[in-house]
Amino acid sequence: MIAWSMVRSGRLQPSDWHDSNRYDAKMAADSRETLLVGLAHPDDEVGVAGTILAQRARGDRVVIVWLTRGEMTEAFGPLPTEEVARRRMEQGRQAGEILGVETRFMNFPDTALVADRATAVEVARLICEIKPTGLITWGDGWVRGVRHPDHQACSKIFRDAVNLARIAKVVAPAAPHRHDLPIFTLRDVHSHLPIAAVDVTPHRQTIGDLADFYMHGVGFGDPAWMEHRLSEAGRRWGCRYAEELDAWETVGDRLYPALLPAPVGAQTFHPGRRR
Ligand SMILES: [Zn+2]
Repeated sequence: MIAWSMVRSGRLQPSDWHDSNRYDAKMAADSRETLLVGLAHPDDEVGVAGTILAQRARGDRVVIVWLTRGEMTEAFGPLPTEEVARRRMEQGRQAGEILGVETRFMNFPDTALVADRATAVEVARLICEIKPTGLITWGDGWVRGVRHPDHQACSKIFRDAVNLARIAKVVAPAAPHRHDLPIFTLRDVHSHLPIAAVDVTPHRQTIGDLADFYMHGVGFGDPAWMEHRLSEAGRRWGCRYAEELDAWETVGDRLYPALLPAPVGAQTFHPGRRR
């Protein structure tokens, strides 16, 4: 049984989410979640590293899928594109080791991601294989870097894929994946969506390890920027360090010890198809 069905049925009150001990005890016995983190390039996951680690600390499965191999970077100097791709895939593998998660690369072209149906169907088939119970992907972006065209395309690809994965005739011969699958997106400065904040204080050291790894590898993950970003979010939520995501269809404007299981918001519950 998934935990937010307990919320709906009244066995677990939404107020329980404020108390991490009660949350842990009730949730851990009931569910093992699978958080899919669908991103465009290796190193995109730096912005949600604490949320990933919080989910892992709960004993759940986390799978990072990068749609591209990030082969267009110039961080390694003048190397053949395939050699850059090889190095970046190795970086992704090592990042997965730091975070303790599964990692997958798809083979779509860096800087040329297109949110078309064929791409979304391919990702939908992967969703049917992974069977996630929650998704983090890119959201709308306004700031340079965040609004990279691949990030914007990636967001639509994964959001479309969640729907397509439910449709048997689309994903055949794979079995459709119809589990509730709440979506969270990386939050940029002008977002007006509700916030799902995660207390990442216990994971600050490992977040820093990942940022250092990419700082040395591709020059992204400035320590001062990381400290400012995490501590400012923490200040807003009354903890030392936090990460904030857009909550698309869950109870937002809350601080959670881990993102999943996420209670579905009253206005966003969709009854779905009974058969
Ligand atoms: Zn990126």
